[in-house]
Amino acid sequence: MTGFREEIRAWLREQLEGEFAHARGLGGPGREHEGHEVRLAWERRLGEAGWTCLGWPRRYGGRDAPLADQVAFHEEYARADAPARVGHIGEGLIGPTIIDFGTEEQKRRFLPPIRRGRELWCQGYSEPEAGSDLAGVRTRARQEGGEWVLTGQKTWTSLAHVADWCFVLARTEPGSRRHAGLSYLLVPMDQPGVEVRPIVQLTGTSEFNEVFFDGARTAAGNVLGAPGEGWRVAMATLGYERGASTLGQQIGFQREFDRVVETARRTGAAGDPVLRDRLVRSWLELRIMRLNALRTMTSLSAGTPGPEASIAKLYWSEWHRRLGELAQAVQGRAGLVADGPPYELNDLQRLYLFSRADTIYAGSSEIQRNIIAERTLGLPKG
Ligand SMILES: Cc1cc2nc3c(=O)[nH]c(=O)nc-3n(C[C@H](O)[C@H](O)[C@H](O)COP(=O)(O)OP(=O)(O)OC[C@H]3O[C@@H](n4cnc5c(N)ncnc54)[C@H](O)[C@@H]3O)c2cc1C
Repeated sequence: MTGFREEIRAWLREQLEGEFAHARGLGGPGREHEGHEVRLAWERRLGEAGWTCLGWPRRYGGRDAPLADQVAFHEEYARADAPARVGHIGEGLIGPTIIDFGTEEQKRRFLPPIRRGRELWCQGYSEPEAGSDLAGVRTRARQEGGEWVLTGQKTWTSLAHVADWCFVLARTEPGSRRHAGLSYLLVPMDQPGVEVRPIVQLTGTSEFNEVFFDGARTAAGNVLGAPGEGWRVAMATLGYERGASTLGQQIGFQREFDRVVETARRTGAAGDPVLRDRLVRSWLELRIMRLNALRTMTSLSAGTPGPEASIAKLYWSEWHRRLGELAQAVQGRAGLVADGPPYELNDLQRLYLFSRADTIYAGSSEIQRNIIAERTLGLPKG
């Protein structure tokens, strides 16, 4: 084991056997409601100890950590069953985008609170009429008295109910169409012009929201990239979103897979030839995914992720959705009902229900296939 890996492992062990022992395993997809306060305290502890934003440049508070070290960190983190991060949108999406496109002043203002877990972010892209077709955004913003004033509605905004800031794609040039005339605005959430309404998901929990802007305001300087050129900035963030999700994810998947196998043994499903075949196939695909992730990471280290990120996103999300179906199948009929009151879902039921979303967010599978078709295979636009 490398010294770096040992250092991470020792630090996580000390923290997770001590003060944060009760936070172990809290949070994650379908369980974001768990222990928000303690996970926020944990995020800050990570930040104080320099364990957030490892890949960021040193001058912005990161460690300039090589990819191998970042992967080691993610792996050890998952292995230690550390709580799910509350600052992942800041660290993984908006932080790198600010580093790429922000002015020095914006970097000084926004990066340190992300790194220290002092400000949480959400992503204001999708709208009722603009999801896959993001260029259809209708939220408008105009300049007035040294501020941007926003009007419109976003939807499916993950974690908006706990976020301090939102990065919003808005139309700032009246009459502009499609990709032109959009700006990428950084908007504080705690103000009278912003209303957040939770949406209940299949899992019964609410992790995403509708967000209404009715005269919401942000300073004129809170635009990332030039006004009217928000599309380019928005695409860079999406590249990070699709690419970053592969880091360290494998260990979590391996654990879920192990739980499915354990259940199959317990219920007798492991003796069913068809289910055995599906289990073996799933295991093999998980191995392949690991190799794919390494390839994506190699290209990530060479700059902003390209279509490789789409290949990885398509592969992991489809695999995970199939694992969810397998998780249900190995439970047999018991998987169809919740145990007695309060009728909480078990881990495998939650996995099944939440994994339906994997092939939708960060760009649906159909959209990833279009990107691969056009940019990797050179096929004409569909
Ligand atoms: C759990 C979850 C969290 C999310 N979090 C956020 C968030 O934090 N911020 C945010 O902005 N958004 C978020 N989203 C929204 C997500 O980005 C959109 O749901 C997604 O982009 C799809 O858009 P849509 O729902 O409008 O579906 P639509 O775009 O209406 O698509 C409907 C169907 O048509 C297909 N389709 C659409 N266009 C094409 C095409 N050109 N070719 C082939 N098929 C096509 C799609 O693949 C899909 O199957 C989240 C979604 C989920 C499920």
